[in-house]
Amino acid sequence: MKVTEYFEQSQGQTLISFEILPPLKGGSVQHIFDVLDPLMEFKPPFVDVTYHREEFLYKKMPSGYYEKVAIRKRPGTVGICAAIMHRYGVDAVPHLICGGFTKEETENALIDLNFLNIQNVLAIRGDARKFDGRFIPEPGGHAYAIDLVRQIVDMNHGKYLDPNIENGVKTNFCIGVAGYPEKHFEAPNMELDLYYTKQKIEVGANYIVTQMFFDNEKYFDYVARCRKIGIEVPIVPGLKPITKAYQLTSIPRMFHVDIPVALVQEFRKAKTPEAQQEVGIEWCIAQSKELKAAGVPCLHYYTMGDVATIKRIAAAVF
Ligand code: FAD
Repeated sequence: MKVTEYFEQSQGQTLISFEILPPLKGGSVQHIFDVLDPLMEFKPPFVDVTYHREEFLYKKMPSGYYEKVAIRKRPGTVGICAAIMHRYGVDAVPHLICGGFTKEETENALIDLNFLNIQNVLAIRGDARKFDGRFIPEPGGHAYAIDLVRQIVDMNHGKYLDPNIENGVKTNFCIGVAGYPEKHFEAPNMELDLYYTKQKIEVGANYIVTQMFFDNEKYFDYVARCRKIGIEVPIVPGLKPITKAYQLTSIPRMFHVDIPVALVQEFRKAKTPEAQQEVGIEWCIAQSKELKAAGVPCLHYYTMGDVATIKRIAAAVF
């Protein structure tokens, strides 16, 4: 079923969903089940699986020279989605990125997803590779998420890259895209970022999932601004608990979001790692409860492998 159909059928009840990472290369699918088994009691209608582009590493060769090699550390998104649907009978939402894909490869990936009866996709651009400095699209690939959305919409209309394909099978993908309550870090200002987000919806995306945020006012303000410029689709808040002191600096660096003063102060007052973890969990529970009370369509938790923490939060909120 499509993600948006779950929202329509929920009759105003806030749903829950989880986002997981594929295991590191060489890891087992059991790792995914170990994360999801304890969370299934909360009955998420869908689970997102992230996609990871190849990274460049410099490997020392026997000659002493360094060779630049491309390594994809977390392959397996599509296979994991199929495994999740098979084991739990819930929908899986693979993330599909522009980076590292030609349009042809994207088309082939979408054909695979369609054959597996995966009807949902989160269409995103992807970040810059380490050492690249800025996002560099694959030659013959897409530069922005909107171009990927367009390609998926084309396939939903039976339009494939090869113009000789007539009456091609029409796929039926529900398309999610990313949104940034605190602005995407590359955008010169919020207005322009919202303008591009609106374009993603206008060409056919069906819903938005937000970047994590730690101050609900940022989300409420974002939704209000989206509605004001005519973005009417569901906007799902993405949540991640901070459980370790180093995350107070690593999360802003990696995700370009602010940490509220009050949360930092609470962390400082907590003297042990256990007490700090409690602060982060309680903060996320309070955020979740307020968002749920406000009637958001779904609370989307970035699990990042920390199943015990996410389970505690979900149990307190649902
Ligand atoms: P876009 O929508 O393409 O926007 C990127 C930037 O370009 C923005 O600054 C935007 O304002 C600007 N822009 C957009 N369109 C245009 C245009 N036509 N002309 C000029 N400027 C434009 N990354 C992964 O690698 N794998 C994942 O699985 C993953 N999952 C994510 C899930 C969520 C919910 C979120 C919020 C992010 C996720 N990311 C993931 C990170 C994401 O890839 C990065 O944030 C990336 O930098 C931007 O992706 P986007 O789809 O928002 O890009």
